[in-house]
Amino acid sequence: MKVTETKKVTREIHVASCIKCGSDDVQITDCGYSSFNMGGGTCKSCKHSVSDSCDISPSKDELARIWNKKNDIKALIAAQQKKIETATSKIEELKALDQKYRDAKAGLKRTGQGFDLDARSKRMQALNKKGERAVGDFNSAFPVGSPVTLELDGGHVVDTTVSAPAQMMCGHPSAWFSGVSGSYHIGCVRPK
Ligand SMILES: [Zn+2]
Repeated sequence: MKVTETKKVTREIHVASCIKCGSDDVQITDCGYSSFNMGGGTCKSCKHSVSDSCDISPSKDELARIWNKKNDIKALIAAQQKKIETATSKIEELKALDQKYRDAKAGLKRTGQGFDLDARSKRMQALNKKGERAVGDFNSAFPVGSPVTLELDGGHVVDTTVSAPAQMMCGHPSAWFSGVSGSYHIGCVRPK
């Protein structure tokens, strides 16, 4: 056989302090309408009131939720924080889109983000030592119009082409590339 037991459970329901005056003296009630019932909370200190449509026999939970939605400062801050996060990621998306279209106009194709910066530095130093010989080697390996993969300072990797031959610039062997402003150290070109 089976027996049943009905337990009366008492639990606490969080009711936020009144947002207008900070009072904890808040009454959680509903209007008791048999249709289109309304409920929520009213601050007994300042009469600030929040109501919304609710069940015909609403639970205290439901009514507290209606009140808390407009009064719980921590939750309201969290909601605003969430908006900032959403807006920030939207801005990042738009910036990436802007970059993509600008790159496309400039004939650049970004193939990735991040590369071995140390390896690039070592290449650059070695080429600095070689000086004019590095320039000559580069110009025969990558004549103007050659496709190259360039590791840019911002950590971007782009596919571009050589637009002007390499030459020594302030002691650095440098060349020019389509869609990339200024000259770039030829050590930034990813080796074949
Ligand atoms: Zn109040």
